[in-house]
Amino acid sequence: SVPMATTAETPITATSLEKPSHPAIHLDAGGKRFGDSVVFANLDLTVAQGEVVSIIGPSGSGKTTLIRSLNGLETLEQGVVYLNGRAFLAGSEERLSATLPRHGCEMLEIGMVFQSFNLFPHRTVLENITLAPRYHHRGSKAEIQAAARATLHQVGMLAHELKYPHQLSGGQQQRVAIARALAMEPSVLLFDEPTSALDPETVGEVLRIIADLARSGRTMVIVTHEMKFALDVSDRVIFMEKGQIAFNGSPEALRQQLQQGDRLSEFVRL
Ligand code: ADP
Repeated sequence: SVPMATTAETPITATSLEKPSHPAIHLDAGGKRFGDSVVFANLDLTVAQGEVVSIIGPSGSGKTTLIRSLNGLETLEQGVVYLNGRAFLAGSEERLSATLPRHGCEMLEIGMVFQSFNLFPHRTVLENITLAPRYHHRGSKAEIQAAARATLHQVGMLAHELKYPHQLSGGQQQRVAIARALAMEPSVLLFDEPTSALDPETVGEVLRIIADLARSGRTMVIVTHEMKFALDVSDRVIFMEKGQIAFNGSPEALRQQLQQGDRLSEFVRL
């Protein structure tokens, strides 16, 4: 067979050579406190390549802190986060901590969509998408704009590219925020209660976009209160309570468990 030529246009990266034999994300024995208050301890979470995992559970159980710990927005005290098999973040009390690069390029491989959109208010929709790819030299200006428009098209927001965030509904802003995350071509997408801040009438349009992404084989972790949505789009559902994973299984297994009328069923009222 003819060996593939390596050119500037087709760089062979570690990622493209690796078989997806590693989980996309693996948190090993994570521990997090705020002051004296322990949010979780010795917590394990593994998300396979292409898997869609929803995290549900009562308010205050640690869901948001958990996913923010996966990309370094919260600093763990214990544990190690692996991204595609590579140690990426380590708890501040881990010996590994000092040896890991801070804010390496791995950070860019994790896209995040927040509850409150977090768009740049003084930038147009298109600029919101292109800012990070331009900062990180992801191509020429024209290439980056073309890619940004493709992601805006994907979320149905191309017609609004010249508007500012305040000119859009909450649902539209969140679709732009999703496009912004996609534009960095992340290997993992994290959603932190993406519809909690939305008016009821715009929740559906955002859930539809997320469901489309889920079906397209993306690796995603979604903290959500939308039970029906979680059961419909996820490969796996995690029920968190008081910092512990109280249920971890397929939507099918969750549905069966619900028939037993336990604590989980009290919480999940479909
Ligand atoms: P959930 O997402 O399940 O509602 P959180 O992860 O937001 O839960 O919160 C878990 C616990 O950590 C709660 O007791 C919350 O009050 C506490 N907590 C979250 N963020 C902070 C913070 N920045 N400082 C202090 N305590 C926090």
